[in-house]
Amino acid sequence: MNAIRHGLGMTSPKARARLIEKLAARGITDPEVLAAIEATPRHLFIDEALASRAYEDDALPIGEGQTISQPYIVALMTQECLRDRKKTDKVLEVGTGSGYQAAVLARLVPRVYTLERIALLLRTARRRFHAFGLHNIHTRCADGAGGWPEQAPFDGIVVTCACTEPPPALLAQLALGARLVAPVGAPGRQRLLCITRTAGGYSEKDLGAVLFVPMLPDVRRHGAARDDRRQQDAPGSGH
Ligand code: SAH
Repeated sequence: MNAIRHGLGMTSPKARARLIEKLAARGITDPEVLAAIEATPRHLFIDEALASRAYEDDALPIGEGQTISQPYIVALMTQECLRDRKKTDKVLEVGTGSGYQAAVLARLVPRVYTLERIALLLRTARRRFHAFGLHNIHTRCADGAGGWPEQAPFDGIVVTCACTEPPPALLAQLALGARLVAPVGAPGRQRLLCITRTAGGYSEKDLGAVLFVPMLPDVRRHGAARDDRRQQDAPGSGH
């Protein structure tokens, strides 16, 4: 009774298993990616009031005008970024948001670096990483377009906010053979691109139309709330 009243029925293993079936039917074939999604409690990355919808394949609001991505898109970006992976030591995410995408990546690669421009969202995400023992996620409050130069090159980069062009700094921070997966284009015309760094330059694959929140300029340079916990932002620091 209690569980039902609190919507926990919808966060059960059964609801998660149904979501995994849906993702597999839509073309997520990497068993490790499916297992990582199944093992990540999405209902704990959103407001309790929305928990009953956590395992539906939808984006949901997380405050500050931002959203947690749809599970299918998280799975697709993860799968494409890590496809044919041989040596994947560290990946970068731009747009930590709720922390869900980073938590999924953290089950698949040894080190995850994630950048978020809104201090409030990052603080909540850090608390979650700590509570779930995800000690291999490193965070920084900064403009993601600049990447994380001190930790480059990355074996993969996932961008979870839409840019008009792939940011040059991010392309430059890809290791040879690594992939950047990012929504690129103006609102209403965004395409999910997978860009691979090759010996001769970059090759591009279009994964289809998507709808992401836009990549915005650094809040620090635009007068909004600052993150006081600057020390936590040092490269290589924990969450
Ligand atoms: N990956 C997130 C999805 C968050 S939505 C999740 O799993 O929940 C996109 C996020 O990108 C938002 O949190 C937004 O604040 C952030 N963002 C937008 N512009 C950014 C920028 N220039 N640098 C870093 N983060 C940015």
